[in-house]
Parts: sequence; C-alpha cells; structure tokens
Amino acid sequence: MMTDISLFWHRRDLRIADNKGLFAARSSGHPVVGLFCFDRHILERLQSLDRRVGYIHHHVGLLQQAYRESGGHMLAHHGHPLEVIQRTVKDLERQGFKVKEIHTNRDYSPYSVSRDSGVAQWCADSGMGFHLHEDHVILPPEAVLKDDGAPYTVFTPYSRKWHKVLEAAHQDPLAPSDPLSEGSWASVEAVPLPALESMGFDAESGTPSGWAAFDRPLDADTVSAYAERRDIPSQIGTTRMSLHLRFGTVSTRSLVRFGFEHSDKWLTELIWREFYQAILHHFPHSAQDAFRAKYDRIPWRQDEDGFAAWCAGRTGYPLVDAGMRELNETGFMHNRVRMVVASFLCKHLLVDWRWGERYFAEKLLDFELASNVGGWQWASGSGCDAAPYFRVFNPESQMKKFDPQGHYVKRWVPEWGTPDYVAPIVEHKFARQRAIDTYKAALTEV
Ligand SMILES: Cc1cc2nc3c(=O)[nH]c(=O)nc-3n(C[C@H](O)[C@H](O)[C@H](O)COP(=O)(O)OP(=O)(O)OC[C@H]3O[C@@H](n4cnc5c(N)ncnc54)[C@H](O)[C@@H]3O)c2cc1C
Repeated sequence: MMTDISLFWHRRDLRIADNKGLFAARSSGHPVVGLFCFDRHILERLQSLDRRVGYIHHHVGLLQQAYRESGGHMLAHHGHPLEVIQRTVKDLERQGFKVKEIHTNRDYSPYSVSRDSGVAQWCADSGMGFHLHEDHVILPPEAVLKDDGAPYTVFTPYSRKWHKVLEAAHQDPLAPSDPLSEGSWASVEAVPLPALESMGFDAESGTPSGWAAFDRPLDADTVSAYAERRDIPSQIGTTRMSLHLRFGTVSTRSLVRFGFEHSDKWLTELIWREFYQAILHHFPHSAQDAFRAKYDRIPWRQDEDGFAAWCAGRTGYPLVDAGMRELNETGFMHNRVRMVVASFLCKHLLVDWRWGERYFAEKLLDFELASNVGGWQWASGSGCDAAPYFRVFNPESQMKKFDPQGHYVKRWVPEWGTPDYVAPIVEHKFARQRAIDTYKAALTEV
C-alpha cells in the first residue's frame, strides 16, 4: 500500500519560515518531504574554492536540521536536477511513497526557466503535478505591466505601477505564510548531506568567516538612516541583505514589510531588484547582448593589461582600486563603488561591460544575474533606463564626494599616498573624451 506525498524542491529559498511554496506543499493534503539538489550544471563551472557554494552547503545543512527538529526530512543530492528528481521519486517508491505533486518556488533566470520546463514536462508525462509559486519577488514579472500589456523598461513608472498593483491585490502579497501551521511531514529515510569535497570543492569554501561581510543583523537604525548614509562606503549605511536575498535565507516579504515601516528609499532599492528580475524575464537576450542593440556596435578595446590592472585594483585611481580589492578580499563591494568601478572599466578603459560582468559573477557572493547585468548595462549606457553615454563618472570627484577623508580607500589601499602607489594607468580627461568620441561615432553610424 503506497502513501501519497508531495515533494518540495528548495532552490534559492533556503528557509522554512515564510516560504510560499513550502506552505503550498504543506497545504496540498499530502505529507511533505523536502529536497535540495546541488546542481552539477551550475557547480561544474565554478572554481574549487567558492564561498557561495560553501554558504549554500552550510545553509542546506541548517535547513536539514530545521526539518529534523520539526519532525521532517529534507533530502540533499548532487547531480543534474531532472535526474536527481527521477532518482528521488524512484527511491521514495521503494520506501512505499508515491510522489503526487512537486512544488517549488519560481526562479526567473533563463537557465532556471528551461530547467523547470524540462522537469514540468517529465512530471506531466508521469502523471505528477508540478506547481511553481511566487516567493522570490513580491510581484512576478507578468503582474507589473503597462496598461497596454507591454513590459516597463523605465524604472520610475514601473515602481509607481508596482505600488498600485500591490494596493489593489485581493490577497495581501506581503502577508507572511507559516508552513508549519499546515499539513505534516512524510517519514522517509534520511540521507546525509554530500560533503563539499565529494562535489569537487575545497572544504575551506564552507568556512563561515568567508561570508563575514554579510554577517549583520537587519537593524531599524541603518534602514531609517539609509537615505543619508547609503552612499558613504566607509560607513555601515547599507544592510548587506543581498546575499540573504540571493539564496533566500531571509524572505523578501519580511524585508519589504521592513522597508514600508522604516524607509521609502530602501524599499525603492528592493523594487529595483524586482524591476531587474522583470527585465531579464521579458528580455532574456539582455543577459548577453546590449539591451539597446546599437550599443553592440561600440568597438570595445581588447585591453588585457588594463583589464588585469582593474581586476587587481591597480589602476592608480584610489576609489576604483579600493573597490576591486574589497571585492577580491570579501566578495562584497559597496553599491556606489560598484557604479564607479563599472563605469571606469566601460568608459575609461573602453572594455566591454561583459568582461566586467563575468568578473563580478565570479567574485561577488551576492552575484545575481538580473541585478548584475542590470548594473553593468546601466554603467555602460546600453541598458534600459541607463545613464546617457556622455555622462562619465570622474573617479576622483566621486572620491571627493563620497570618501573625502579617504577612510574607505585607506582601508583597502594602505599604500595610497606613498611612493609605492601606482600612477594612473590612463589620464582622466583623455579617457573621458576617448569614450565620448567612440560611443558617439558608434551610436550615430547608419
Ligand atoms: C555594476 C553593478 C553590479 C551589481 N551586481 C549585483 C549583483 O550581482 N547582485 C545584487 O544583488 N546586486 C547587484 N548590484 C546592486 C547593488 O550594488 C547591491 O544589491 C548592493 O550593493 C547590495 O548591498 P546591500 O545588501 O547592503 O544593499 P542595500 O543598499 O541595503 O539594499 C537592499 C537590497 O536592495 C537590493 N538593491 C539595492 N540596490 C540595488 C540595485 N542597484 N539594483 C538591484 N537591486 C538593488 C539588493 O537586493 C539589496 O540587498 C549591482 C550594482 C552594480 C552597479
């Protein structure tokens, strides 16, 4: 006699609390078992020391423990997702459980969409339900459209509509859900957490000090003072929630509620995050091509030496160098500084934004395709709602404005101001004019 169950597949939602998809699975009428797949397709492209994998691994371990403490089980396997699901369903059958439904929270990146459509097809062929839930953003890409049904490509009207849709919703999209208040767990055989080494990663990837830059509680003082302090990289003026949002170790709803309570400005940043998710969903080509096609005509310089100096934080521009060294050392970079270093690469060095985007993707612990591509295309001028190309940040004036005493710079570039500090690799006035002339010529070509 088989027992019908539901499977809940965790991906970028490494928590039980306020998890929409898990709540839906627990409300399905069947006992639930959790599953996490260390996705070979994603992992095989990473280097053996990768703190993000360590962070995920650490949190999957904590999640397994949380399941156990509440009387349930979360399985964790390494492999290709469809194969892992097929194997899991078979193994559960051997134990007397029939998986009737798979629930999971929707992810909007092009890879995730194609992965999920493969799994959905297999479920349909096998007579199993496959249900996607909205958890990662407050309002999914299709919910915030212009009156004629077209997607927004400019942030301000998108944001206005986002508020309107939220207010008009019949069921409050910000209401928390408590998965443990419904249903039950299935009593399946436990499986151990795969070791990092067995998946090809150094054990050091999982040392919690590796993500210390994000180890800050969300506090009302920081958020309330956000509008005044957010641009000062030497201060604790931003919240460092990006890693937690990336892997769902906090719920987006809880942060948005916090934003409504404490700061409109901070809330606006969370809406930027949703805007970029929507842009990537509606315009998936923008992950690799210029959002505005004519920007792909820019003859980027193949400046390997300049790029290497930028990566190493040795350009001779203190704010750029401090940002790159902070990134290399901690896996984080302050937003104001991200804008300055990105602009420097695309405009001063005239290096393709894709080179910088890939470097950030490798180094940022909070790397997220939609926001990263959005930020880079904004800086290069090629994105939706980007700064006009002729506005070129002056890295020195940016430092005067946002780090006038050099507190941030001194922390990351101790030799700044001594003879050991490198001379600028390119002169600002010359580089600015070269960028404007090159962009202008490329964009006005017939
Ligand atoms: C070139 C470039 C690349 C970027 N790459 C990423 C990336 O890969 N992943 C990422 O999460 N953010 C990225 N950002 C956006 C932003 O820099 C980070 O979200 C922010 O620095 C994270 O720090 P925080 O959590 O302290 O942010 P806070 O200022 O406290 O903001 C709260 C949250 O709002 C969201 N947010 C804030 N600013 C932005 C923004 N400009 N765009 C989208 N969401 C935003 C983030 O989720 C952030 O955690 C990038 C920005 C630029 C200019």
